[in-house]
Amino acid sequence: IFGPIGLAFAALLAWLMANSLAPRRLLLRAVRTGLARGEFEVRYQPVIDLANGACIGIEALVRWAHPRWGDVGPAAFIGIVENDPLIVPMTHSLVERALDDLHTHRVPPHLHLAINLSPRHLQNRQGVNELTRLLRTHARGRGVIAEVTERQLFDDRRAALASFEQLRAIGVRFALDDFGTDRNTLSPLQAFHFDFLKIDQGFVAELEYGRTDLVRGIVALARQIGLTVIAEGIESTRQHERLLELGVEFGQGYLHGYPMTAARLARWLVAEPRGDGGDGGDGLDTS
Ligand code: C2E
Ligand code: MG
Ligand code: MG
Ligand code: MG
Repeated sequence: IFGPIGLAFAALLAWLMANSLAPRRLLLRAVRTGLARGEFEVRYQPVIDLANGACIGIEALVRWAHPRWGDVGPAAFIGIVENDPLIVPMTHSLVERALDDLHTHRVPPHLHLAINLSPRHLQNRQGVNELTRLLRTHARGRGVIAEVTERQLFDDRRAALASFEQLRAIGVRFALDDFGTDRNTLSPLQAFHFDFLKIDQGFVAELEYGRTDLVRGIVALARQIGLTVIAEGIESTRQHERLLELGVEFGQGYLHGYPMTAARLARWLVAEPRGDGGDGGDGLDTS
């Protein structure tokens, strides 16, 4: 009845079920359970003024403290969650936790909180309304920067633009994350109003070997359109120095501080400024 094409199709379908659909559903179900059980945690990485080492803000990065799988980084799950409506409640629980954590640990409110916002979230009207309410009630005067990648930003451009405006109206600023890693890299700068441009760690890594032209070009572009540059993934003093020479004011990376628990961040802040890589470890210790 099926014939060779039908059989090939059935085989393909079986392969898809086995290799992508089912694991995707399983992962989403596990994330849902993990959220309900409070298994998701937030780590905080300091953002530094490169000229003097002072901390100017903090980026919140999610970690999954899974009871059996251990400490799971976002690379393993965020791509799938970002393509599901689940990203909205997940982000809200992380943002609420982050703002409360920083408040509880007396992290000074002049240090901004940067959060990673999925473009899908920005295209969800109800999600953005909820986020607006959440920031109103929990920011307590702290500045919030929404980091967005250009991936999927244009899927529903009108909705995303409206969300930018709505969040901007309550003081949220925007950073274009991982700049230079996708195609059409200039179109988001044309279509959306960003305040910051984050240079991807790939370009920072190149500085180690003396390749400065791309960072130089990105800095010139940012200056031209009035954006502040933040470098990501600074791991060596050589990279730090080259960034300063190239006119990059702000940055973050293992050289200055790993993503850490709020308690650790609070202790780190008391001890800064220093450039020895913080107190090490990206682990899940809750000390
Ligand atoms: P990102 O926003 O570009 O975050 C920077 C990533 O670089 C983080 O990885 C951070 O831990 C890592 N990093 C920081 N300093 C260094 C360094 O000196 N060297 C190297 N090699 N890496 C460094 P992480 O935490 O694994 O996050 C990966 C990505 O997952 C993030 O990239 C972001 O796009 C996404 N992500 C993280 N947390 C969230 C979240 O709460 N929501 C959403 N939607 N995405 C998130
Ligand atoms: Mg980011
Ligand atoms: Mg980035
Ligand atoms: Mg990155």
